[in-house]
Amino acid sequence: EPVVDTEFARRWLETATAAVTREADRLTELDSPIGDADHGANMRRGFTAARDAVAKEPPDTPGRLLVRVGRELISTVGGASGPLYGTLLRRTGKALGEAATATPEQLGDALRAGVDAVAQLGGAAPGDKTMLDALVPATEALAFALDAGAGLAEALAAARSAADEGAAATVPMLARKGRASYLGERSVGHQDPGATSAALLVAALASAAGA
Ligand code: ADP
Ligand code: MG
Ligand code: MG
Repeated sequence: EPVVDTEFARRWLETATAAVTREADRLTELDSPIGDADHGANMRRGFTAARDAVAKEPPDTPGRLLVRVGRELISTVGGASGPLYGTLLRRTGKALGEAATATPEQLGDALRAGVDAVAQLGGAAPGDKTMLDALVPATEALAFALDAGAGLAEALAAARSAADEGAAATVPMLARKGRASYLGERSVGHQDPGATSAALLVAALASAAGA
């Protein structure tokens, strides 16, 4: 089984950066009908800056690496997603503490703390058509799989499926938070860009675990 260590966090960051870069056009297209058409550019800019910062001054624990990524996202992404994803990663990293490795359960608990912080900062809940519609089911699926005895790779694969389904489930939702909420009923029928990028970040976790 893969171990949650600094190398794991670095593999996640590489894969996440590659994914948001590859999918930037699609994320921006999703942000066109119900936003301001910048989500792909925001994510690409933030993750590229984070990847470069980590390469320049490599953090020595997985927690510090995630905190570093969170700080870069907050300082380089102007949109709503910068502070929200920045908070997710900073809080998750802080919850991992100073340890060189974390157990799968500790990773699950830390991610849940990070997702709770996003909900608190943005005031959104599942069903509001935001990144939380992918993040909350993902952390729930992760905890459920670990409870049932799955190893890290299998549990993160379950989280990836839950995040993908959660992102797809935002299509019929009415947006209640963020720019898309200004459209009211006209937000219905479009997939939320933030839920879509959140699913990419969860998929990168699964891939860092070899799943
Ligand atoms: P902006 O809307 O400022 O241009 P982005 O386009 O980068 O920022 O990000 C938009 C995404 O941010 C949305 O698709 C949604 O998932 C997420 N989002 C916006 N507001 C909130 C909120 N209050 N809580 C959670 N997520 C939010
Ligand atoms: Mg936008
Ligand atoms: Mg914007």
